[in-house]
Amino acid sequence: MKYLPLLFLSLFLFISCNDVKEKEVKKPKVKVNTEPIVKEYGFVFNDYKVIRDTIKSGDNLSLIFGKFDLPDSLRTFDAVEKVKDSFNPRMIKIGKPYLLFLDKKKPNELNALVYVKNKIEYAVIDFRDSVQVNNKKKPTSLKRRTIAAEIEGSLSETLSKQGVSQAFATKLAKVYEYSIDFFKIQKGDKFSVTINERYIEDSIYVGIESVESTYFQHRGNDYYAFPYKLKPEQAYPDYYDEKGNGLKSMFLKSPLDYFRISSRFSGRRFHPVQKRWKAHNGTDYAAAHGTPIKATATGVVERAGYTSGNGNYVKIRHNGTYSTQYLHMSKILVKNGQHVSQGQVIGKVGSTGLATGPHVCYRFWKNGVQVDPFRQQLPNAEPMNDKDKTIYLKHIEPLRKELDSVIKVKFKK
Ligand SMILES: [Zn+2]
Repeated sequence: MKYLPLLFLSLFLFISCNDVKEKEVKKPKVKVNTEPIVKEYGFVFNDYKVIRDTIKSGDNLSLIFGKFDLPDSLRTFDAVEKVKDSFNPRMIKIGKPYLLFLDKKKPNELNALVYVKNKIEYAVIDFRDSVQVNNKKKPTSLKRRTIAAEIEGSLSETLSKQGVSQAFATKLAKVYEYSIDFFKIQKGDKFSVTINERYIEDSIYVGIESVESTYFQHRGNDYYAFPYKLKPEQAYPDYYDEKGNGLKSMFLKSPLDYFRISSRFSGRRFHPVQKRWKAHNGTDYAAAHGTPIKATATGVVERAGYTSGNGNYVKIRHNGTYSTQYLHMSKILVKNGQHVSQGQVIGKVGSTGLATGPHVCYRFWKNGVQVDPFRQQLPNAEPMNDKDKTIYLKHIEPLRKELDSVIKVKFKK
């Protein structure tokens, strides 16, 4: 019994000695292995001689393969033939990177080629075990975050300080197109957004995948926007505010995609054809002959016809308050009484009637009076019905709380 403590002691010594020994063995190992292990595209780079290159003009698979020996004395021509079914050689594009994995022992023997299609997708042409082609994707994941910031400089500058790409500024400006003039945002304006961002292998940033919610505080006013699909079959969501009102306007900003405004609505202008001063009750959009003209809002064609002044024209009644009219068309593409949707092409630009060159005279009627649409506070797109609104408000409640809380924490308001 009296030897027991000794036994413990020796045991302890044994253990501690062993510990020391192990440490001594480990140390030189670490020193030898100074080259870090590099793994990518399913290869351990350390096991090969790796050459990185980019596709040059005139490059093709046989040219690249031809510079090396292939395993089992495979001929270049046969290799290309075998690869063809799963790797279209025409897919190769100038400037795209590729990697060659050569045998460390036989440095002219090509073991594999990795063609990098984009940040995520790549193809592996593998010669190690017969010829195999694998089209692969790097594993990606989504990370969700809410950011809040105060405007400093432009919106895109502020966003990039938060590590968000400038392209997102364009997207935000589009969402708020009808509510906020982003040329007028100022220091002191704040925003918060909840976004999902995609990463490759949890570390390489790809970009914003989706937006869950956005908030802007502009000149002391609150502007929320939540993407939402009212109908599940919608390809893209529409944006609605915290009350369920659509952020899109009932009207497009112009009846043409590309144009130059050649004459604005005015009480007095010199008429270029009649050569006298008179009111111009429309906005002239000059564009190439034949350019498609779009209905700026949904409605019913009230009149599609011709007069000597208007030339070929279309007038659309949108509701009890608003109508729009489009003049000087080279071609009318709708009929009286036809229902048209916002953005639908109703005719083509021309110079029929009293016109000096191809343009659309766009006329905007409110309660039977012609007004300047640029000076109107225009209504939003049609609101949701009560049932949809209840579901929507429930959906956005946690999202809104999240935006508010991040703003609160950041600015302690
Ligand atoms: Zn005009």
